[in-house]
Amino acid sequence: MVGSLVPFVKNKTRIDELKATGRLPSPTGVALAVLRLTQDPNTTVEQLSQVLKCDPALSGRILKYANTAGTCAGRPAASVTEAAIRIGVYRGSQIALGFSLLSSYRNSPCRKFDYDGFWSQSLATAVSAQMLSSAIKSANADEAFSFGLLCQIGRLALATIHPDRYTEVLAAAGASQEEQLCRLEREEFALDHNDLTAAMLEDWGLPAVFVEAARCQEDPAGSGLDPVSRDSRLATLLHVARHMSAVCRAEDALRPPLLSALDAHAGEAGLDPAGLAEMLGTAAGEWRRLGRLLGVPTTKTHEEKIAQAGRDDARAGAEPKDPERMRILVVDDDPALLDFIGALLQHEGHAVETAPGAETALRRALESNPQFIVTDWMMPGMTGVQLCKALRQSEQTKSIYVIMLTACEDESHLVEAFDAGADDYVVKPFNPRAFLARVRAARRIVNLQEQVARDKEEIKHYAAELSVANRKLERAALTDPLTGLANRRYALERLEQEWSTAIRYGRPIACMIVDIDHFKAVNDTHGHDAGDLVLQQTAQILRENVRRSDVVCRFGGEEFLVICKDTNEQGVRTVAEHVRAKVEAGFFEVAGVRGHVEVSIGVAARAAATISTKLLLKAADRALYAAKAGGRNRICVAQE
Ligand code: GH3
Ligand code: MG
Ligand code: MG
Repeated sequence: MVGSLVPFVKNKTRIDELKATGRLPSPTGVALAVLRLTQDPNTTVEQLSQVLKCDPALSGRILKYANTAGTCAGRPAASVTEAAIRIGVYRGSQIALGFSLLSSYRNSPCRKFDYDGFWSQSLATAVSAQMLSSAIKSANADEAFSFGLLCQIGRLALATIHPDRYTEVLAAAGASQEEQLCRLEREEFALDHNDLTAAMLEDWGLPAVFVEAARCQEDPAGSGLDPVSRDSRLATLLHVARHMSAVCRAEDALRPPLLSALDAHAGEAGLDPAGLAEMLGTAAGEWRRLGRLLGVPTTKTHEEKIAQAGRDDARAGAEPKDPERMRILVVDDDPALLDFIGALLQHEGHAVETAPGAETALRRALESNPQFIVTDWMMPGMTGVQLCKALRQSEQTKSIYVIMLTACEDESHLVEAFDAGADDYVVKPFNPRAFLARVRAARRIVNLQEQVARDKEEIKHYAAELSVANRKLERAALTDPLTGLANRRYALERLEQEWSTAIRYGRPIACMIVDIDHFKAVNDTHGHDAGDLVLQQTAQILRENVRRSDVVCRFGGEEFLVICKDTNEQGVRTVAEHVRAKVEAGFFEVAGVRGHVEVSIGVAARAAATISTKLLLKAADRALYAAKAGGRNRICVAQE
């Protein structure tokens, strides 16, 4: 099957389609506002901190970050403004982006996806990238940190958009290599998590080098990027940081093989082993400290959690949902009233939990997810109104139905309760029958709300399915079904794209047209099916004998186009000769008959006179014709 066709399919289209599913992980409004502010070069640190202050959790995290060892010099920053000054407008925004996602996406219905493990790993990669930034010069420490934190965000997105299907993909991938997971993802969703990460980073306005580096992080050396370019160094930094992160997270027994893998990769990146060991130690310490600060676990709980999820599933399955019965949390500082209301509701068949104060209630609301809360107004410490406001601020609790118990019925009092987000009120002392009638009315609303939420989920599910179907169609439209190579349509568009990149950066580019010699004779002698087989085998030989960055396409009947990025005439000549020899040496077997084919190759590299892709293709075509005329089974290079 053809690899990723992403560079051709516009990220913008893809992201818009995924946004329409309503499930694409996205930063909070504040983090997005911060990001937008930083697109404007005139933004000041004061403006940035003003916006940040609107999200207390986010500013808390930014403060903590600014005050950790890696960034802190001297006295700790005491205010968001000070923190923002310390880390700078631009870097502050990237970090805000990472942290806002971290706080919003801590769990979801994808059963096989380990959310805590994901963030734990991302945090370890972030600190490792930060450490490495001094050794692999490509980004400053904070940029490297936030890039490390976000570099696998595509995985989280797949788990969020397709919880069920991704559960199956993860189950099928098991503990296999990253490459295998990407392959399964492409089969299932027609894109892999690295494509998606790159598309999301681009959508959030991160610079193009980050987008490119994220795409190539799995295999920077084989990505075809110029090794001295910033994209390539950044991709290498990430690659090594991810190996460091794996070592940080591994249990003692599993560490030695990971350490040797890390040493090998670090060696390739030119890092000295002593420096690396020191960095690793510091990164592990930083990771644990930041983990504690941000509430991200740094010990392994994954298996336990997955097992727990299994048990929860079994329980949920065993206990069918009864629309008459609600999970109700009753909050009152008066133990007698708490017991009385609790008993009343239990008698009606509801599952009741109680809390003696608003602080406890808030915690319980997050843990046990009640559908309905009855709360007293006046309580020592946090009041019922404050509880209500707090509930409305969190995504998880914002739609819980709240009845407020109040001792007074004057109008301004009630307005305050409703403004805080209460749905109804009951004046104490109350008549139990009237109270229960209100609870029944509440139940109707809760059931309706849940129905709407289920419908919405269903719509999101269909939108997600549709986006996969669209991507599969898009892929089919660009793939040749016989050989699995990209087709002519893709080839032409991709050549155009690579051509403009080459021109923009003043880099060489070349192409070759490979045509099987006397192919008609194969069909005539052995039949059309044998011909098809030969085409498939030739496609495979081509794929296996060009560099990973070269793009092989089926250009016509028995004709293939290979686009060679960053390749001059000398380079493409070598590849062409290699490919020709490989085809000549190969053989195929049909119905007991063993045979082989040969190819002629027309080669052309960008030169002063070739000012368009059309002329480049024409030159390659003329060279092919010359190769055929010269006796076939040979290559011919176009002369300027
Ligand atoms: P030359 O050395 O000059 O290239 O000769 P040739 O026979 O290879 O070239 P020609 O253009 O005369 O014939 C190409 C043949 O390829 C004709 C066509 O039937 C066959 N062909 C094109 N597409 C397919 C295909 O998908 N499957 C099979 N089996 N044959 C195909
Ligand atoms: Mg031919
Ligand atoms: Mg031909």
